[in-house]
Amino acid sequence: MKVLKFGGTSVGSAPRIKEVAKLITDGEQKIVVLSAMSGTTNTLVEISDYLYKKNPEGANEIINKLEAKYKQHVNELYSTPEYKQKGQELIKSHFDYIRSYTKDLFTLFEEKVVLAQGELISTAMMNYYLQECGVKSILLPALEYMRTDKNAEPDPVYIKEKLQMQLELHPGAEIYITQGYICRNAYGEIDNLQRGGSDYTASLIGAAINASEIQIWTDIDGMHNNDPRIVDKTAPVRHLHFEEAAELAYFGAKILHPTCIQPAKYANIPVRLLNTMDPTAPGTMISNDTEKGKIKAVAAKDNITAIKIKSSRMLLAHGFLRKVFEIFESYQTSIDMICTSEVGVSVSIDNTKHLNEILDDLKKYGTVTVDKDMCIVCVVGDLEWENVGFEAKALDAMRDIPVRMISFGGSNYNISFLIRECDKNQALRSLSDALFNEE
Ligand code: ASP
Ligand code: MG
Repeated sequence: MKVLKFGGTSVGSAPRIKEVAKLITDGEQKIVVLSAMSGTTNTLVEISDYLYKKNPEGANEIINKLEAKYKQHVNELYSTPEYKQKGQELIKSHFDYIRSYTKDLFTLFEEKVVLAQGELISTAMMNYYLQECGVKSILLPALEYMRTDKNAEPDPVYIKEKLQMQLELHPGAEIYITQGYICRNAYGEIDNLQRGGSDYTASLIGAAINASEIQIWTDIDGMHNNDPRIVDKTAPVRHLHFEEAAELAYFGAKILHPTCIQPAKYANIPVRLLNTMDPTAPGTMISNDTEKGKIKAVAAKDNITAIKIKSSRMLLAHGFLRKVFEIFESYQTSIDMICTSEVGVSVSIDNTKHLNEILDDLKKYGTVTVDKDMCIVCVVGDLEWENVGFEAKALDAMRDIPVRMISFGGSNYNISFLIRECDKNQALRSLSDALFNEE
C-alpha cells in the first residue's frame, strides 16, 4: 500500500480539495495524510497567542473570521443538501470547541488541542467529500495511533500496533484519510510533531505499514539542481539518495521536512516528491540508491554567523573542542559547519538568539572573531573521497569568491563553502556552470 501526503496549499480551497480527491481515487487502496488547509495552523497559533495574553475578545474575532471562511469552503465543496449540512455541523462543532477554550485558563496543553483542530477539520472535510462522491473512504484517527514517548520521539512499536488495529476495523475501505502533524504524547495528552510535521506523519506511517512508497505532494515542481530564482538554467533532480535529501532539506529545500527522511530511510521505503499542479510530472525520487559519480544539486542557506576561536592553548591540548562545544550546547545552539586547525576552530551557527552569551563564554578560552551575514553554499552528490575531480571542479568554480570555510568529508555526499551572503548569487551561478552546464 502507498502513503500519500498532501500539504496545506494542496487542500487550501474547495477546488483544490476536489483536485486531490480526483488524484487519489484510482481504485488502489491507500492511506492519505493531510495537513490543515493553508494558513489555518498559523491562525490557530495566533488565536492561542491572544488566549495566552488573556484577550478572549481578540481571539474570538479571529475565530469568527476563520469560521466564516470555513463555512464558505463547505458551501463550495459539497453539492448535496445532506453533505452541505454535515459539513456545516462539522465546522460548527470544531469552532464551538475552539471557542470553549476562550473561557478558561490557557496553557500549553490547551494550545496543543487548539492547534490540532486544523488537521481534524481538513481530514473530516475530505472524508465527507469522498463519501459524497461515492468513494469508500474512512477516517483513521491519528490520535488513536500516532504517539510520542517520554523523550517526545515517535514510538514506532506503539504506532505500528495501533495503526494496524485501526486498519483492521475497516478492511474494505478504498481510501484511509488521516491527520498529519497531530499525535498524543507519552501521557496521552494531545500533542503534535512540530510545525510542518505532516511529512513526518507520512513517513512514520509508511514505515509502520511497510508501504511500497511514500508520496509527498506539494504545489512545487519537485527538487531543482539549483535555485531557479537566481540561476537561469536549472534542471529537475529526478533521483536523490536519502542522505543527499537530508543535506538539502537543511538548506530549506521546502518540499520535504527534514524529520521525514529518517523513518523512511531505515525502513528502506522510497519517498517520491510530486506536484499537485502537474500530477503526471515524474517528480523527485528519494531512496537508498546512490547514482555513482553524479553531482545532484547546489543549495544555499543565508543568515549564517561564523565564529572563530583562536588559542595557543589548543596547540597539543586535548579537550579544547569539548569545552568549546559545551558552550554552544548549554545555549541550545546547534553548530552546522566546523573547521579546525592546530591553533583554532571555526564554527557556523544559524541561530543567534544567544550569540552574546556564547561569545562571552568563548572569550574565556581564546580570541574570538565573528563574521555575520554569511551564507553556506553546499554541493550535494556522490562525493565519496575516492572519486577524483569533483572537489577540484567545485573549488575551481569558487576561484573568484572569498571563501571563509570549506567542509568536505563529513559525509560521502557533500562539500560546503561558507561565503559572504553578498557573494551567494555569483557562487551559485558559477557552481552551476561548472557542475551542470559544461559544454
Ligand atoms: N499544519 C501543520 C503546520 O502548518 C503541519 C503541516 O502542515 O505539516 O505546521
Ligand atoms: Mg576525491
